Amino acid sequence: MKTKILVTGGLGYIGSHTVLELLCAGYEPVIADNLSNSRIGILDQIEMISGVRPAFHYIDLCNEGQLARLIADNEDIAGVIHFAAHKAVGESVAEPLKYYRNNFDSLLNILKVFEGRRLNLVFSSSCTVYGQPDELPVSEAAPVKKAESPYGNTKQVAEEMLQDIAAADSLKRIISLRYFNPVGAHASALIGELPSGVPQNLVPYVTQSAAGKRGPITVFGDDYDTPDGSCIRDYIHVVDLAAAHIAALKLLEKQEGTSNYDVFNIGTGTGYTVLELIRAFEENTGVKLNYHIGPRRAGDIVKVWGDVRKSTQQLGWQAKHGIAEMMRSAWAWEQYLQTNDIK
Ligand code: UDP
Repeated sequence: MKTKILVTGGLGYIGSHTVLELLCAGYEPVIADNLSNSRIGILDQIEMISGVRPAFHYIDLCNEGQLARLIADNEDIAGVIHFAAHKAVGESVAEPLKYYRNNFDSLLNILKVFEGRRLNLVFSSSCTVYGQPDELPVSEAAPVKKAESPYGNTKQVAEEMLQDIAAADSLKRIISLRYFNPVGAHASALIGELPSGVPQNLVPYVTQSAAGKRGPITVFGDDYDTPDGSCIRDYIHVVDLAAAHIAALKLLEKQEGTSNYDVFNIGTGTGYTVLELIRAFEENTGVKLNYHIGPRRAGDIVKVWGDVRKSTQQLGWQAKHGIAEMMRSAWAWEQYLQTNDIK
């Protein structure tokens, strides 16, 4: 019997890669997704890559009744990986209610339908909880800073809620994974990130600009206190990030000698500036980029990269892909989109 895992947002960028990793690891993923930021076609791609078509449920997690029915029909679900959430920082500032409503209602409904039952839960959190860290690399023990956006606040508050719930209910075992900057795509180039509208994140903007879909890249500031003046991030290959969820599930399954709630940084532990990333893209794809230096972006973190020793030691997980594979796979995916005229 395979262990059944509910993957909310399982057709999204990180969700779809995690579904593949679950299949590889011998789990049976069950996907719940409302397609608000994903496409049903991703299910075909998952099947093409893995040879398996996972169960898919088109439901809105904010609808407790729909979720309760799904769980009632799948009583053997042993764990949940919860990706489904709104994630655009700028939009969350403009429409905070939409963010608080969706991101909290969905999480609370999951916890509600598992009331009185055992639940292993892996929650998608973010290094955004650290704000601008005082020390680098930033470890899980660093203080959580006041969130800069309602989006960031949904992650912080959710982490606190989950900690309280795990403390009060021994049937709940929960891990929050604090993602650094996920980039890249599956080696097949059949799944990847599909931003809606003009990409706000650096790498999808870079690949779209390289493909001629967008104008030149604007580097948001080159006068920061960093080696070349542009901001530093810890970019993590999405396939490595997906694998971290399997490691987290396995730790939750272990029970003995582990706590009911924990947090882990998921990054490579290495930072790259924006200009270094642009150079890495050019070197690894042979494609020349057009870019210019623009003004700073309001609210940007200057530099952040993770201390990943805890993940290495306790999750037994480590990033395997470097910046070269991140850039090559992101470009291969962009080319797949172009060849197949996927907008
Ligand atoms: N960035 C940039 N130009 C862009 C998009 C992003 O220079 O068009 C920079 C941004 O200032 C930041 C880094 O790239 O230093 C990563 O930005 P992203 O929005 O991808 O991630 P986040 O800031 O949320 O970590």
